[in-house]
Amino acid sequence: MTTKKPTVAVYKFSSCDGCQLSILNMEDDLLDLADAIDIAYFLEATRAQKPGPYDIAIVEGSITTPHEIERIKEVRATAKTVVALGTCATAGGIQALRNFANADEFARVVYGHPEYLQYLETATPLSEHIPVDLELWGCPVNKAQVIEVIVALLNNRLPNLPPYSVCLECKRRGTICILVDKGIPCIGPATQAGCGAICPTIGRGCYGCFGPSRDVNPGAMATMLRQLERYPGETARLFRGISGYAPTFRTIVDDLLPANEEA
Ligand code: SF4
Ligand code: SF4
Ligand code: SF4
Repeated sequence: MTTKKPTVAVYKFSSCDGCQLSILNMEDDLLDLADAIDIAYFLEATRAQKPGPYDIAIVEGSITTPHEIERIKEVRATAKTVVALGTCATAGGIQALRNFANADEFARVVYGHPEYLQYLETATPLSEHIPVDLELWGCPVNKAQVIEVIVALLNNRLPNLPPYSVCLECKRRGTICILVDKGIPCIGPATQAGCGAICPTIGRGCYGCFGPSRDVNPGAMATMLRQLERYPGETARLFRGISGYAPTFRTIVDDLLPANEEA
């Protein structure tokens, strides 16, 4: 008797494709995984497509056009489980910078013929449009965490993702804290672990691309970082980056703005 493998579909919305590439970068692990799952739809990897419904939809990218609102609803309707993959899908990503500005002005500056564009005023995470079963943060996501999420779903358990901040990854690597040692602004204490503390290890402050950690103390972070600012508004700019539309980081910036209107 043969058991039907769970079907997995991978979708792209507005994004740079980096998180899908993280899946392809799994290489040998992906081949092992392919024994356990049926990759039914993954245009970045193959043109072969099997019709839905699917057991798992893995979705990269944010919702930035009217068409994408319709598409993400179709994805939700054809999948038992929807996973938001990466910081574009979980928080809007870099596209969400326009949520704090005038989208038409951005379009005029960037495109020669903005009149051909159809876009929403805001770029938003999947969860603002559909129920999402699981969110995996990162820009790009950590491929080991992608495997953990898929294996957990196949085994009907919660994924074992780190609940702590980037600071713990610094400690594990033996990286001397650049915030304490050199006074370089770093929002690692407020950021979810997952990258292995890449930036502090090369002497650069974390700018939060793995999204807010669970135990962040916004007020304390903002107060400490404002004392280290190298230019007015640096703290607000650090939080208003790739994960800037995440509610926790938005709250921190909102609290800072009265003190720093130009940020
Ligand atoms: S989260 Fe980052 S790496 Fe992933 S698709 Fe968005 S911009 Fe690309
Ligand atoms: S360098 Fe940043 S992430 Fe690393 S321990 Fe210091 S504050 Fe935390
Ligand atoms: S910005 Fe922070 S979370 Fe992103 S790679 Fe650098 S250290 Fe890691």
